[in-house]
Amino acid sequence: MNRDFIYSGSPAHIVFGQGKSAAAGEWVEKLGCSRALMLATPQQKADAEAMAARLGPLAVGVFAGAVMHTPVDVTEAAMKVVAETKADCVVSLGGGSTTGLGKAIAYRTDLPQIVIPTTYAGSEVTPILGQTEGGRKTTLRHASILPEVVIYDPALTTGLPVGMSVTSGLNAMAHAVEALYAQDRNPISSLMAVEGLRAFKASLPDIIKTPPALDLRADALYGAWLCGTVLGTVGMALHHKICHTLGGTFDTPHADTHAIMLPHTAAYNAVAVPELLAPVARVFGGSVGGGLWDFAKEIGAPLALKGLGLTEVDLDHTAEIATENPYWNPRSIDRKSIRALLQDAWEGKRPA
Ligand code: NAD
Repeated sequence: MNRDFIYSGSPAHIVFGQGKSAAAGEWVEKLGCSRALMLATPQQKADAEAMAARLGPLAVGVFAGAVMHTPVDVTEAAMKVVAETKADCVVSLGGGSTTGLGKAIAYRTDLPQIVIPTTYAGSEVTPILGQTEGGRKTTLRHASILPEVVIYDPALTTGLPVGMSVTSGLNAMAHAVEALYAQDRNPISSLMAVEGLRAFKASLPDIIKTPPALDLRADALYGAWLCGTVLGTVGMALHHKICHTLGGTFDTPHADTHAIMLPHTAAYNAVAVPELLAPVARVFGGSVGGGLWDFAKEIGAPLALKGLGLTEVDLDHTAEIATENPYWNPRSIDRKSIRALLQDAWEGKRPA
């Protein structure tokens, strides 16, 4: 077996545990800062204001304008607040949208970031920023984008609605599945990916029955950290290419798109790399694609792209874009095969 690999550890501080978000102020000071700007979406404004009140004089303001896909005009509005308040760090409280805004500010200013994630998207542990301008989404990777401190506090995720918990969990799992066959995978990324999948298998079916259960939320958040970390360290392939194409072209909801596509892209690639995806079948049972689809169905995830309002003509367009300039993938890609895969996902079929 070829054991050559490169492993680079992330320099970020990861703080995990119930109630640990109360230590946000200590982390502001440990970073050598004293003027934190709180970031949130409009929906989580009250939570951000409460956190700012807890930070006391360490907080200089709240900008609650974060939205999906990090539009540049929102970042520019936030940059004005950064300048007005003379903020020397940002504290992002929320999901991938809020984290994206904090990263966009850090990319422009090199201000340190503390992220307190409240979904399972995983953006907080990646040096990747996707931003949109004029209807176009571009993605970049830079050391300044990686948040310095991440505080995972399960208590802040007990209110994540069940539907979002499910799709956000499957979004995270998609990072882990693609990490298993990544061209630049390494033994640590593969261990983390399998452990992340196990954490979601152990928690999501019970979270839908008892959403506020803290121990289950802790397991899922642990899975989110593991899956996000592998997203940040190894390359993604066909699955992420299709989801970026669908999200970028048709504005489909991020987590739902990942949730629907995952069993189909995994089944497609399992043909080429069965031994690398065998751990997925071991965790979820059955075949790789079938096991993931059964799990998604069991936890009430959306299963069909047509439920997101896409038409069959949109599938033609997606197959064209996704195969024009593809990411590296373990199985060769052609327009006809990808169109067939999209048809199955559109209809919500269980992969063979
Ligand atoms: P989100 O951040 O857009 O959150 C969706 C909604 O849920 C928002 O209204 C938010 O305020 C609300 N919400 C979040 N947590 C909540 C909670 N605990 N309780 C109640 N409401 C809550 O969704 P997301 O899926 O986390 O993030 C999607 C965005 O993240 C996309 O723009 C995607 O491109 C980006 N992303 C980036 C990376 C990366 O590495 N760059 C990785 C994953 C996702």
